Amino acid sequence: MSEEPPIRLFVAPVTPLQQNCTVVWCTKTNKAAIIDPGGDLDPILDEIKRRGLTVDKIWITHGHADHAGGAAELKERTGAPIEGPHEDDQFWIDSIPSMGQRYGIDDMRSFTTDRWLHDGDTVTLGETTWDVIHCPGHTPGHVIFHHAPSGFAQVGDVLFKGSIGRTDFPRGNHADLIHSITQKLWPLGDVQFVPGHGPMSSFNLERQSNPFVSDRVVGQTKPNTQGPG
Ligand SMILES: [Zn+2]
Ligand SMILES: [Zn+2]
Repeated sequence: MSEEPPIRLFVAPVTPLQQNCTVVWCTKTNKAAIIDPGGDLDPILDEIKRRGLTVDKIWITHGHADHAGGAAELKERTGAPIEGPHEDDQFWIDSIPSMGQRYGIDDMRSFTTDRWLHDGDTVTLGETTWDVIHCPGHTPGHVIFHHAPSGFAQVGDVLFKGSIGRTDFPRGNHADLIHSITQKLWPLGDVQFVPGHGPMSSFNLERQSNPFVSDRVVGQTKPNTQGPG
């Protein structure tokens, strides 16, 4: 008999932007965290019920509407606390209603987090403990959630299979993003990850083939010696 892994997950793409709302749970306690509830909550809550899980935490990687537009309603419906992102994303959280309207979604709401998260913090889910890593660049307050014992992370819009997060938004910063990926994610080893959009991948695969941050590409990038670092 093989042993049950400590966590399991399912991924539900939500909103017109097909954002990967990710439900992770502790298999010992069936306590679940909903990561980045952008919207479309009914089918996700139905699936959680069908699997016999209870919603214990709401985790937010960053303040973009497609990731966090359903957080306020989800907290009201489940009573679960919201953890994340980092407070540098407050201006994005404030803009969720207007961003939602831009996507044609009227019911996206701003929210108040129960806990800002910082680099090196841990969050708990049932009997599991997750590391929080602050990864600015796509947004200044972006965090990721890493479960080291499983070699798994939800990385939001920091890194995608074959791509990286956009940095052309207000307070986006390309150099910060590359630093976050190569100096904070790569040292974690070969982690399987769910990105904010698109299919899963692994850090090793991206180090081999990602056109923006593969070891070959990054090795060729000249260090930035000008301007503020
Ligand atoms: Zn984003
Ligand atoms: Zn996104």
